[in-house]
Parts: sequence; structure tokens; C-alpha cells
Amino acid sequence: MTAQLIDGKLIAQQVRDDVAAKVTARVAAGKSKPTLATVLVGERVDSATYVRAKGKACEELGMGSVSHHLPADISQDDLEKVIKDLNADKSVNGILVQLPLPSHLNEERVLQLISIEKDVDGFSPLNIGRLAQKGREPLFVPCTPYGCIYLLEKAGVKIDGANAVVLGRSNIVGMPAALLLIGKNATVTVCHSRTKDIAAVVREADILIAAIGKPEFVRGDWIKPGAAIIDVGINSKPDATKKSGYRLVGDVNFDEAKEVAGFITPVPGGVGPMTIAMLMNNTYRAAEIQDK
Ligand code: NAP
Repeated sequence: MTAQLIDGKLIAQQVRDDVAAKVTARVAAGKSKPTLATVLVGERVDSATYVRAKGKACEELGMGSVSHHLPADISQDDLEKVIKDLNADKSVNGILVQLPLPSHLNEERVLQLISIEKDVDGFSPLNIGRLAQKGREPLFVPCTPYGCIYLLEKAGVKIDGANAVVLGRSNIVGMPAALLLIGKNATVTVCHSRTKDIAAVVREADILIAAIGKPEFVRGDWIKPGAAIIDVGINSKPDATKKSGYRLVGDVNFDEAKEVAGFITPVPGGVGPMTIAMLMNNTYRAAEIQDK
């Protein structure tokens, strides 16, 4: 293996420790406990797992959490009322609506309703709009892309002037990751399902962020020697040696890429743990912003 492993689990723990220390100091100073409200609509097992993990992280870091589990057939109006009530509730600092919502609900309208000061997921059009504009700062950066950039910086990867390639243009990962890289002076190419000859584009990348949800899509011979690889993908791959019958792999073929890259994140244990760590950081910041 030539690549240096970027240990997301360790770095996420450091972020969490730092947030926990700041929360302790805040509460000791007589201020309120930062509190996150999660909103889960329906019975998706994966969404329920993510929401539980977020509540558990709040508890571990000394923060408060409230969870709203709403029926899958809730109306748009009733869901919007829940969001409006949370906006008005002074004991709630951050609001996280777990995506995706059931298809009858208008996600854009729901996200737009979240007060910008409580938008700890960073998905409201105001926060994303600010991220996209030169010289403007969003109040909150979306957690997964924020985690990707944090890992690159922690590993000492130079973003300024680098050629960066982002695979995927989703609202929650690819697009905000590309905007963040541009803001840090990388030259960015975004690839998606209509991109021609992705391998050739990836070969030019000093930094690659892969977020397409295709198991081991990126091959070792696509990687520029010494490149930094951030693998966001979480995919299950059949594996008869595992009790569960599968194992998790990223969007990059790790075994091949690690022989060529300069830096690489593993799956699991790379970007995954960073998402919740950054959410905790954003929730703490939300409480501090709302003090003012
Ligand atoms: P998504 O909304 O499904 O978006 C996938 C993107 O990849 C789209 O832009 C799509 O292009 C592009 N794409 C799909 N197939 C492609 C192909 N063959 N070649 C090139 N581009 C292709 O996915 P997402 O929500 O961004 O998630 C991406 C991956 O990251 C998933 O594995 C997900 O589980 C993982 N994820 C991890 C975390 C974490 O915390 N670690 C958080 C979020 C997501 P079009 O736009 O043209 O359709």
C-alpha cells in the first residue's frame, strides 16, 4: 500500500471530543444545552437508523435532542406545521428533516421553511445559495461535504490550485462538495451519469471526491499517482465470508486505488463518521448563533 489512510473514525472522534468540551463549557457558563430536533417521516429502516444515531450522538456529547416521528401519509400542511412550530420553539437550536421524504411531499418547500439559523443540515436554499456565491458565507455547510473537506485539510492535502474531480452532482453531496472546493480555490470538474469517458477525467484529478453510489466504480488505473481520494459511497456487496452475507464498499475500488493514491479514505470508517460529527458541530454553532 502506498497511500496514506485518512482515518475518518479517529478524526470524527476528535471533532466530537472538541464539540463535547465546548458544550460542557457553554452549559457551565449558564447557557442552554444545544438541542437538535429530528423529523422522521415514515418507516424507512435506513432513515430510522440514521435518526437514532443522531439522537445518540447528541446524548453522548451532552446535547439535547427531540425526535418527531411522523406517519408516512402525513399531509404537506401538517408537516409544515411541525417545522413552523420547531422554528418558533426557543428550546430547539437545530432542525434536521431526514431525507428522502415520501414522494407525495414537497421536499423543497419543507427545506425552505426551516429557519436559516436552525438549518444545521445546510440544505435550505438560502444556505446553499450563499455557498454558491463568491464572498458570501453560509451559516451552515452540509455535513457530508463539510466532512470531506475537513478530512482533506486534516490530512494536509493542498486544495488551493489543485485539479479536483467530483463524481456525482446530488444536492446533498456532489454539488455542495464541488462548491466548497471552488471556494477553496480548486479547479473543479463535476461528473455525472451523462459524462463521457469518466476514467479520462479522473486521471487528471489531484483530488477525487466520489459520491455516485456505485460499488467500486473507480478503478485503480484511473487514479493519478499521489492523488487524494475521498470515497463517500456506501454500497453493500455480496460477501459469502460474512455472517450478514454482504460487506460495505465505497464507490472506489479500495484495493486497487490504495496502491496508486497518495491519500485515501476507507469504507467504512472514512467519510461516514464525519457526517454526524459535523452535524454535532453545526448544532453547537446554531446554539451560539442564536445567543446573539
Ligand atoms: P444520488 O442522489 O443517487 O446521486 C448520485 C449521483 O451520481 C448523481 O449525480 C448521478 O448522476 C451520479 N451517477 C450515478 N451513476 C453514475 C455513473 N454510472 N457515472 C457517473 N455518475 C453517476 O446519491 P447521493 O445521495 O449523492 O449518494 C452518493 C453515495 O454516497 C451513495 O453511496 C450514498 O449512500 C453515499 N452517501 C454517504 C454519506 C455518508 O455519510 N458517508 C452521506 C450521503 C450519501 P445524475 O445526476 O446524472 O443522475
